[in-house]
Amino acid sequence: MNVILHIGLGSFHRAHQAVYLQRLHDLGDTTWVLAGGNTRPDMAETIAALQASGGAYTLETISPQGEHVYERISSIRQVIPYSADLSGLIAQGAAPATKVISFTVTEAGYYIDAQNRLDLDTYADLRTDLALAREGKPGATIYGALTAILRARMASGAGPVTLLNCDNLRHNGDRSRSGLLQFIEHVGDSALLAWVQAHTTSPNAMVDRITPRPTAAVRERVLAATGVDDAAALMGESFIQWVIEDQFIAGRPAWERVGGEMVASVQAYEEAKIRLLNATHSCIAWAGTLVGYTFIHEGTLDPVIRQMAHDYVTDDAIPVLTPSPLDLPKYRDVVLDRFGNPAIADTNQRVAMDAFSKIPGMIAPTIRDNLARGRRFDSVAMLPALFLAYLQVWHRGGIAYTYQDQAMDPAVAHAICAADDPVAAYAADPVLWGDLAGDARLVDALRAAFTRVNAFVAAHRH
Ligand code: NAD
Repeated sequence: MNVILHIGLGSFHRAHQAVYLQRLHDLGDTTWVLAGGNTRPDMAETIAALQASGGAYTLETISPQGEHVYERISSIRQVIPYSADLSGLIAQGAAPATKVISFTVTEAGYYIDAQNRLDLDTYADLRTDLALAREGKPGATIYGALTAILRARMASGAGPVTLLNCDNLRHNGDRSRSGLLQFIEHVGDSALLAWVQAHTTSPNAMVDRITPRPTAAVRERVLAATGVDDAAALMGESFIQWVIEDQFIAGRPAWERVGGEMVASVQAYEEAKIRLLNATHSCIAWAGTLVGYTFIHEGTLDPVIRQMAHDYVTDDAIPVLTPSPLDLPKYRDVVLDRFGNPAIADTNQRVAMDAFSKIPGMIAPTIRDNLARGRRFDSVAMLPALFLAYLQVWHRGGIAYTYQDQAMDPAVAHAICAADDPVAAYAADPVLWGDLAGDARLVDALRAAFTRVNAFVAAHRH
């Protein structure tokens, strides 16, 4: 039997990777099983519930049409209890049966800057783990944990292993590998560095399934539907996708039999997701907030907001992503269907956050691509124009919730809103626009879009 050791037994892993393996088990292929645990003493109640059930739990999925499905997931066969020395994770990671080490430790768990450098100045967690690793001890970050596990694996002669990142990060395999190699370099362990370079691979992967934090209502619905009171029950949307680069140095489950998409490069899928899903999500959150909605599905089901999102994708995103291995118009329609699912109850507050990193990462690339092709970009210009209108409301203290943005300097944002010409000040901001800042074509498009946004808000506010 082959083992995937998973680090980070959060909701998403249990609603996504564990489900793919369950589907293989359901087909009678039990050659691979999961073992998993956390590097931090968190999720105590869920971990205890999973240990009591031998790793099994009930997953509720809800489709945009409101169909509820309940599945028992038992592909996690071993739940490794937390201990500060990570002895359980290290023992399993160094076992010859373990052929893949996968992880979901959140986007914030990688500590790398825009240039892919490990940011030791900013993150104390990382400095602590580095000091521990120099003494040969494991730490709580993914790098501190992997360094300890891979050292033990190298010493035990257990052979090569694939490091599979399942977090929502552009080029997730490449970036976490780069972070890990830099960490080991800082530790100064050249033997381990050479071993990791020769005996591991890090495929990039695109993961997708909206999995809200489970509420008490999920447990109640699971009890009512199945008769089982499950403290580890969780809920996700019915949609699921996993696109993985096929670079597994020590083998892998036959995921392609159960819907996994094994590809040579994940790039086109990542771009489609970032521009058609993530940017559209922000568009709906900013527009919805401006007219007084709380939830994503409310904005998605509003015909005017839906049209705005649809126009952005159709007019300006799809043309610059074509040709693509994906059916992009279908992708757009499926995304809008998913966002309209009221059972997910995702909030505008959660999705609207971090615009000062989302505009450069998810929206400006579409503007650049249209400019490079000599195309107009009136529809994509609506997205940053919506955010400028949103920022002005925030500037006046009028957003109904706390707006969080790790990359925004509040003083700069207030100055943009208070400027004589806020559109010009906004279009000149280097954090948002990089080398496009101040471009006359950008200023013109944003000015026209901002007028349309203000007319939309005036006509639509309720
Ligand atoms: P969660 O809060 O349920 O679980 C988070 C997990 O990460 C826990 O196991 C925790 O121990 C671990 N963790 C958190 N910070 C860490 C750190 N700094 N170092 C080491 N471990 C850390 O969250 P979730 O819903 O499971 O989401 C986890 C990640 O999955 C997301 O950040 C995202 O990258 C990816 N994802 C989530 C969704 C979703 O809808 N929830 C969808 C696609 C992708």
